[in-house]
Amino acid sequence: MKRKKKIILVCHCILNSNSKVEGLSQYEGVFKEFLNIIADKGIGIIQLPCPEMIMYGIKRWGQVKEQYDNLFYRQQCRRLLEPIIQQVKNYIDFGYEIVGIVGIDGSPSCGVNFTCSGNYGGEIIDSSQVAEILESLKLVNGSGVFIEELKKYLKEVDLEIPFYSINENDVYSSLDDIIQKIWAT
Ligand code: SF4
Repeated sequence: MKRKKKIILVCHCILNSNSKVEGLSQYEGVFKEFLNIIADKGIGIIQLPCPEMIMYGIKRWGQVKEQYDNLFYRQQCRRLLEPIIQQVKNYIDFGYEIVGIVGIDGSPSCGVNFTCSGNYGGEIIDSSQVAEILESLKLVNGSGVFIEELKKYLKEVDLEIPFYSINENDVYSSLDDIIQKIWAT
């Protein structure tokens, strides 16, 4: 039996950059450099669903955490996570190891260590408002909404899994760091 019984959970766009807000991707489809290392290490992959793509589609605007931070979005995130948690629990119960969960820092949904915040929203009456709105954009400490819900859910079912993250603005800068941490597992 060749299987290594090790699995990693990755945010959807690591395996499919097409789900990202249009204009935002540093790789063509799959983040190959990351994936190749995981594959070489014999770790299996579970791809998390992309909550933004599922709920708001490919023509959505880039949004900030405040726009997703509502009960409906949180409940839908949880529903999407339910089958994932069920599988993870079953794997762990039968001796498999979930080596980590990889999020996307900077994302309002999938950020782990930092996410984006700003005074977004409302009708834009004239173009001068756009600059003002964009100026309010900042990165803040904390997780995105989807990852917050995932963390809560894991706690409820008594599972502790380490979180790692890829920096959305420069995916290659975070590669060495994340690989070293996962390699150490
Ligand atoms: S960071 Fe999360 S919400 Fe954004 S595209 Fe990737 S999987 Fe979807």
